[in-house]
Formats: sequence, C-alpha cells, structure tokens
Amino acid sequence: ALNYQGETVLISCPWKLVLRLYNTATRKVEEFKPINPDKVGMYVCGLTVYNDMHLGHARTYISFDVIRRWLEYSGYEVTFVQNHTDIDDKIIQKANEEDSTTEEIASRYIERTTEDLEKLQVRPPTFMPKATDFIKEMIEIVSDLVEKKHAYVVEPAAGALSSDVYFDISSASDMFGTLTGQNIEDMEAGARVAVDSRKRHPSDFVLWKGAKPNEPSWESPWGSGRPGWHIECSAMSLGHLGKHFDIHGGGVDLKFPHHESEILQTECHTNHSPVANYWIHTGFLTIDKEKMSKSLDNFFLVRDVMKEYSAPILRFYLLNGSYRSPIDFSNSSLKESMAAYKRLEGTYRRFRDEETNGVQKPPELVEAIEQCRKDFVSAMNDDFNTREAIASLFQLARIANNHPESSLASDLRSELVKTFDYYGNQVLGLFTEHIIDDSLLASIKDLITKRDAARIAKDWSQSDSIRDELSEMGIEVQDTPEGTKWRRI
Ligand code: AMP
Ligand code: ZN
Repeated sequence: ALNYQGETVLISCPWKLVLRLYNTATRKVEEFKPINPDKVGMYVCGLTVYNDMHLGHARTYISFDVIRRWLEYSGYEVTFVQNHTDIDDKIIQKANEEDSTTEEIASRYIERTTEDLEKLQVRPPTFMPKATDFIKEMIEIVSDLVEKKHAYVVEPAAGALSSDVYFDISSASDMFGTLTGQNIEDMEAGARVAVDSRKRHPSDFVLWKGAKPNEPSWESPWGSGRPGWHIECSAMSLGHLGKHFDIHGGGVDLKFPHHESEILQTECHTNHSPVANYWIHTGFLTIDKEKMSKSLDNFFLVRDVMKEYSAPILRFYLLNGSYRSPIDFSNSSLKESMAAYKRLEGTYRRFRDEETNGVQKPPELVEAIEQCRKDFVSAMNDDFNTREAIASLFQLARIANNHPESSLASDLRSELVKTFDYYGNQVLGLFTEHIIDDSLLASIKDLITKRDAARIAKDWSQSDSIRDELSEMGIEVQDTPEGTKWRRI
C-alpha cells in the first residue's frame, strides 16, 4: 500500500510471534503452531451468491481479513482460500423467478459482492474457487465414500429423476461431534419427527442430489444431479490446501452441520485427521438479538450503508469488539462509532500532515509509542483481540494530543505516524481515505506534471482546468516556493 504521498508502507514485525487463538474443535485457547513454520493455509467458507452482501457477511469477512493480515504481519506467507457457493436451492429459485440461469445469477452476484468486499478494503483471497469448478472432484470424493461404505445411494426423492447419495454418520460415529461435542445418540434423540424415510440415521446428510426436471445438473455414477452443500468445501479445500491445513473458518452458524459434515467427509476420504488444526468461528451481527439474514428480511446491504459510512468507519465499528461475540446492530451505535473513529483519525491526520518540524521529543510520547506497539501486538496475539488493539491506538492518540504537532522532532513524529500506519492501517484497514492506490497515484502525478508544464507556458486556463480535475479526485494542489505540492482533502 502507498500512503498519500506515495511512500510505500511496509508491514514488518520485530517481535517473535506467540499467537494464542480459540479453537472451536477443542473449545480452548491454544498456542498457534503452523504445520509449516513459515506458511499458513487458511480456508474460509464463502458467500452463497444469490443476493448482495449484508452487514452480517461484512462482519465475518472483515474479521477473517484482519486475522489474515495479522498472520501476514507476523511473518507468515498465508494461502487464503475463500469459495463461492454458486449452485444451491436459493440460487435455482432466484434464477426461476427471474427467468434466468443459475450461472447468470451467480456471476452477477460474484461480481457485485467482490466489488463490495473490495470497497470494504477486504484483501482479495489467494484463491476464490467456485463450487461448480470442482464437480469432478466432488464426484470422486463421493464415489470413494460410497466404496468405503461411508455413504449409501437411495432411491430418487419425490419428483426427482435420479438417486441421492447420503453420508452414513453411523459409519464414522467415533469421529462425530468434533465441533459440537455431541454424539450421534444425542442427535437421534433431538431429531424432528418428519425424517426422510430413505435415511438410515436422521442426521445422515446429503452428498449428491438427483436432479429434478429443469434443474441444472451434472452427470455422475448415480445419474444426473448436483452436489449437496457440504461436499463442495471438502473438494475445494483439498484441491487448494491439501488434506491437512492450519485454519478453517466461517460464521458460527456453519459449525453444525456444515463444518461437522465437512470433517466427516474429508477425513473419511483422506484417512487423515484432523483436516484442519484450528477452527475459527465468528459471532453474529444481530438486529434486536436476531441474526441479520437474507431470509429474515432484517438486513442492511453493505452497498446501501456505504453511501453514508466509509469502509474504515464500518471496519472500526465491526472490529471494536471480539470477533467471537455477537454485535447487536443499531444506527445509534454505528453513529457513536463513527464519532470515535473520527477522533482517532483526526489525530492521525494532524500529525501526518504537519509540515513544520520542531525539536521536542517528549519522553512521555516516546514511551507511549513503545507502549502502544507492545499493547497492540499482545492484544492481537491474544485471540485477535481487536477491541484491545484499538484501545491501544486511542491511548497513544490521547498522549499525542497533549503535544502540538509542530513542536515534535521529525523523527519522533514519523515514528508516531508509522505506528498508526502499521497497526491502524495495515493490520486493521483503518485510515484508508488517506491511502492512495498505485493507479490513482500515477494519474495524480501525471496531471501535476501537465499542470506544471501549462504554468510554465503561462496557459492559465489549462492549469486551472487541471486543478479542477484534481480537486474532483479529492486532491488539493498547493504552489509553494519548493514546487507543486498536493494532498488529499
Ligand atoms: P451465506 O452466504 O449466508 O452462506 O453466508 C456466508 C458467510 O457469512 C457465512 O460464514 C456465514 O456464517 C456468515 N454470516 C451470514 N450472516 C451473518 C451474520 N448475521 N453475522 C455474521 N456472519 C454472518
Ligand atoms: Zn464451507
């Protein structure tokens, strides 16, 4: 990333990482030990693409973005895989409603949600596979599970053209309950009355669904059909990260049955356990204590909210708590967050934009910078405690505000600004209004060169029109004795 003056801001970590994280599989906070000392493989379940993203999705993906950024800051090379679920009942329904195809619906919402994630400053995953790119692999896994008697084929469902395939949970009863701590007898007792009579156990789950007329389908050993939901993540994580990787994540609703099913499928197929060493689940964004969701119709779309609130404000709001605790959304709490963020950002901007250098190096501030760095790092290493990490930035801002910007020696001021850049910007993704990407920077520089040439040629109308163009881009130019300077407004 580049800051507003086009300097590269690099992430670097002078401390050795001792990261502790909560593992849903053991229900304990554990020390993070990657499989490979320098690399981390991470899989996060992606969006089902039949609608725009809402703030609940943003909460989950921003949390994983920061987890990934923290791992990268800590020196790991992270392979981050996040899929798209591009075939499922809801996508088929939407395609029927619009008299369209599932491909068209999925590609529209992949494009739109990717745009939303980019606007939220969520870094693009290393790989973003689509479920339908992995049909062959899914069929291979299901065939293997049938062969190993972990899965069975049943007659077609009412109205379907071909057979379904189910996972037989009794065939792996000792492996059941990794994430929920429940055994299969508990599941049986809790099962609802209307159980599909084709299933051997009420909790057996579908691996492959026989096609119904006019549904998208693929040829398989069981006739034409499509994959169940869970199997796609087994195929895509195996394809990109192999049979054993470090971190698997998703929202807390995915713990069961999605992730529990994934464990059974993958591990019975590969004969390797565990598939992932650490399972991370994010808490819900709720409204009136109810999960924000498309189906409950209580959602706010990211693109609507972003008309009023910028990415850093939303990130600040969503990160100012533990990623595991629920956040109950309200307009008033978002407004409060905005006010708090603006205070922090104001301090950052004032010190960063100051052009006069003083001579002072107040010991109180030198110490506060050091303390903030320590506190930020230990907060993040304590199960990615972004709330405490943000508090450490406020503490530094509070002390910095005791000193006039222009009084500080330039190296101290630069250390202060760097601290905000590294932690606030690089790790948490804040302060981005003041960060400019490469292509924008190139066009700014180009316009300034042209304007300088116009001024030398005394072509005032040309130079004014370039100034206006820059101002529309949010850039203010100042003509100083040292030449043309610019800043973001
Ligand atoms: P979906 O597209 O509904 O499958 O959801 C994609 C991801 O967003 C999953 O990891 C969900 O757990 C997560 N998610 C959905 N709704 C919420 C919410 N209200 N709060 C937090 N995460 C959510
Ligand atoms: Zn998944």
